Amino acid sequence: MYDVAIIGAGVVGSAIARELSRYQVKACVIEREEDVCCGTSKANSAIIHAGFDATPGTLKARLNVRGNEIMDQLSKELDIPFKRNGSLVVCTKDQDPAGLDALLEKGKENGVPGLEILSREQLLSMEPNLSDDVTCALFAPTGGIVCPFHMTMAFAENAFTNGVEFFLNTEVTSIEKAAEGYKLSLHNREKEETSILETKVVINAAGVYADTFNNMVSEHKLHITARKGEYMLLDKDAGTHVSHTVFQLPSKMGKGVLVTPTVHGNLLVGPTAVDVEDKEAVNTTLAGLDSLGKTASLSVKNIPLRQVITSFAGLRAHEDGGDFVIGEAADAKGFVNVAGIESPGLSSAPAIGEMVATLVKEMLSLSENPHFNGNRKGILRPEKLSLEERNALIKEQPAYGNIICRCEMITEGEIMDAIHRPLGARSLDGVKRRTRAGMGRCQSGFCSPRTMEILEREVPLSMFDITKNGVGSNLVYGHNKEI
Ligand SMILES: Cc1cc2nc3c(=O)[nH]c(=O)nc-3n(C[C@H](O)[C@H](O)[C@H](O)COP(=O)(O)OP(=O)(O)OC[C@H]3O[C@@H](n4cnc5c(N)ncnc54)[C@H](O)[C@@H]3O)c2cc1C
Repeated sequence: MYDVAIIGAGVVGSAIARELSRYQVKACVIEREEDVCCGTSKANSAIIHAGFDATPGTLKARLNVRGNEIMDQLSKELDIPFKRNGSLVVCTKDQDPAGLDALLEKGKENGVPGLEILSREQLLSMEPNLSDDVTCALFAPTGGIVCPFHMTMAFAENAFTNGVEFFLNTEVTSIEKAAEGYKLSLHNREKEETSILETKVVINAAGVYADTFNNMVSEHKLHITARKGEYMLLDKDAGTHVSHTVFQLPSKMGKGVLVTPTVHGNLLVGPTAVDVEDKEAVNTTLAGLDSLGKTASLSVKNIPLRQVITSFAGLRAHEDGGDFVIGEAADAKGFVNVAGIESPGLSSAPAIGEMVATLVKEMLSLSENPHFNGNRKGILRPEKLSLEERNALIKEQPAYGNIICRCEMITEGEIMDAIHRPLGARSLDGVKRRTRAGMGRCQSGFCSPRTMEILEREVPLSMFDITKNGVGSNLVYGHNKEI
């Protein structure tokens, strides 16, 4: 019997797992995909919002501000790439600047430090590529950018090394109340096996599917709508087109789109916002991508759209009530919802982790884990070392001298580390999210087969079993001329 079973290894489930591992607890995370960070957490704007946007008094407001506040410390402890680049909400000449004042007031109420409204002249010295129509903007110095893959992995790896078990490729198919706690029916998608897992407490962090699980055990029904957001990612050559995250002032026409540098030096433009029926619909559309360029040009001019290297979409988990739903369901003792975690869910995840772990600690009277180690080191990046340091490293471990991904300059040594570290990569995308091999300009055209050879050698995995991203996405089906 587990004390706690967390459904979902997104940033939220993983942050909760890490915070829970501070206590003596038998806990597990169950994830239907082959890796952590395969849901919404891998496809978003990657912004650590300052916290001026959410309605004062809501969980969204409180947890966003707290999450933002602890990011510096977390990024050091867990080695998460994070930069406080500051954000701007720009107002154009046909918009009412009173909208910015309202945001400023909300931000002050939420406790966001350093907010100020800047004139066009002040803005142009910070962002010369702002559109000619921009008149003023709300500046939030605490806004930041993060790597959402590394953030999620860091939480999960640290939870794992502190004793939390992870069941990947494992789908929770139903939940039943039991004499003590709950029985979860599991389906292992790789082995095609079913099993039952018993647990005292369930934490429902299943993203867009959190309503399904709540509705299996509670009469207080939730309803989550998947709200699609499409993006275009531009090459690193375009990465300095802006240095702050440039938001648009919401208007009758919608929330606008943002233009931002990423923490790895690319430029990101998006997202759209369209409600969709299908909770798996992470496809991009011509109409969606087309609209991005036009809308983005209202705030930033001359965006080099010819340098788009890929597009992607994510699904927001919008609950009808509009706020995060966090806490034990009133009529289902031991069943804790962490539902409706749409934006700013990434920014809030560290604080959600704290909140839920404290709740579970009280529910189960947990005592501290004397062996908890909150530090974790990310993958060593030779590119960040001086020439002397790099040469010394290569002398000791020649795999760090063998470049596999030419666009991102990722070495064989980094890929080997990605495979062998806690919760290591087992697929091409798993390697990509951990190392960036395949994320560059050529989008893995060159490095895929070489990464597959390393996976085959290091896991070991047969070439036929290596997948792009889990069950059913195998890349090799037979030998040349055999099929
Ligand atoms: C377009 C867009 C832009 C965004 N931008 C930002 C931003 O800039 N800043 C910000 O703070 N937030 C942003 N967000 C919100 C943020 O990405 C989410 O709040 C956050 O990623 C949610 O994390 P999660 O762990 O709850 O969900 P997920 O990452 O979706 O994790 C849920 C997990 O549950 C698993 N699961 C589901 N069903 C089952 C099952 N039956 N059995 C086992 N596992 C299951 C899924 O596979 C998934 O991995 C954005 C979201 C979108 C869509």
